[in-house]
Amino acid sequence: MTGQHLQIADLISRAGASFGPAPALIDGDRSVSFAEFDSLTDRLGNALLGRGLRPGDHVAVLVSNGIDGVVAYYALAKAGLVRVPLNARETDVELAYKIEDSGARALITDGRRPAPTEITIAVDELSTMIDAADSTPCRVVLDPEAPLRLAYTGGTTGKPKAVVLTTRSELAEVANFLVDLLPDIRPDSVMLHAAPITHGSGAFFLPHLVKGAANVILQKFSPQRFIDAAVEYGATATFMVPTMISMLLEDAAIDRDRLRLSRLCYGGAPIAPALLARGIETLGPVFAQLYGQAEAPLAITCLQPWEHTPERLASAGKPYTFVEMDIRDAEGNSLPPGTAGEVVTRGPHTMSGYWHRPEASAETLGVDGWLRTGDIGQVDSDGFLYLLDRRHDVIISGGFNVYPREVEDVLLTHPAVREAAVVGVDDPKWGQRVSAAVVVREPVAEDELVDHCARQLAGFKRPRHIEFWDELPKSPVGKSLRRTVRETMHSPQEVTENA
Ligand code: AMP
Repeated sequence: MTGQHLQIADLISRAGASFGPAPALIDGDRSVSFAEFDSLTDRLGNALLGRGLRPGDHVAVLVSNGIDGVVAYYALAKAGLVRVPLNARETDVELAYKIEDSGARALITDGRRPAPTEITIAVDELSTMIDAADSTPCRVVLDPEAPLRLAYTGGTTGKPKAVVLTTRSELAEVANFLVDLLPDIRPDSVMLHAAPITHGSGAFFLPHLVKGAANVILQKFSPQRFIDAAVEYGATATFMVPTMISMLLEDAAIDRDRLRLSRLCYGGAPIAPALLARGIETLGPVFAQLYGQAEAPLAITCLQPWEHTPERLASAGKPYTFVEMDIRDAEGNSLPPGTAGEVVTRGPHTMSGYWHRPEASAETLGVDGWLRTGDIGQVDSDGFLYLLDRRHDVIISGGFNVYPREVEDVLLTHPAVREAAVVGVDDPKWGQRVSAAVVVREPVAEDELVDHCARQLAGFKRPRHIEFWDELPKSPVGKSLRRTVRETMHSPQEVTENA
């Protein structure tokens, strides 16, 4: 422990002292000031340590979008506890795996308890714990390289892996946003969180907090609710995955003159240029794209609003100021503009490695500190990045990653299924939707297989369409060729919901 380094706790207490009574967090009728947020996180941090947790312990958090979750996240940071955010959309089976894999000693939950942990704290208990707690500042000083949070990503090998992020990476992420993406935040700015704070939107919280701007949380996204809240609160910034932008343009009545939005940040999945063009037409030049991944949180490249020219709408932009990016071939040689290769990146915001997976860490981080993203792309002569494909076949549906093997594994647990290949089929609304080709041992209805998956997988991972094939295409070594399956797959009918 150095004690010499800026802590996340310092950012919170400084904001508390500077912006005291102004609203820091708003969720419906509930609002918390900057001073209160500092105090709530101190007291909850003290209470958590009072429950027998020790700095460095991992604490899983399974709560839906709202103030409680944010207070819990930053109380954990002040107490030196490692946050493991979980996605409430996942099934108990998926969550249990993450709770066990992360080695969580405690679970903060709004009801579900997918796996036993030594300590379980219900969200409803938090206010009682806070009321009874010591209000002295909670300051467990973390080394900049010590774990601060674990972010689960499926990677490409099926089972999800936890990315270890540190105080160093978190501070760099905040700095990246303030320098490039949101350089104009002022105390009267307002961030509207429409997407889950456990994921992309959470990265916008601290940049706004440190500048004295309010963070407004929507518990659930709906296009009209978003527009109404944006007008009501005078939102200046928001974050969406492309699917949400598509829903917004389809389903909301938008009067641009009533909006104050200056940045609609989007990313997390490829976006269709036509959708982007429509968005700009409706909302004006407010779109800012970010390309990143759990391993390099939300900051590899960004496409600024003024760079959204018609010929650049397919680009993911240029590297952030304090981020390096390169395109490499399979041997690790740098490739010139116009040549496709793997995107690699380096910067203080990148992960320190995968939790308890030294081999995967070594493969991804290499020896020279460059992070291999697994994405294939190329740059043009002006340095703009164009992403082409995933190195592997991860499907992104509605902004959520679906790892084909995980779905295949579930299909294969059905007695009638002999072989399965899961691929993403392009979908105008969800980006991609999950489809499967199966070879069966005996006749079985498509609905039965879909139900079988639904019992074990989150809604966004469930195949929307299953085809019955006589055989699956294979490579010479017998591996199923998902690319061929994808190309052959018939495009199924429109689907209307992804939950
Ligand atoms: P995750 O780690 O779950 O955040 O997923 C990261 C992956 O999503 C990246 O490696 C990319 O393949 C994809 N991705 C993220 N942002 C973009 C973007 N702006 N355009 C295209 N793909 C993106």
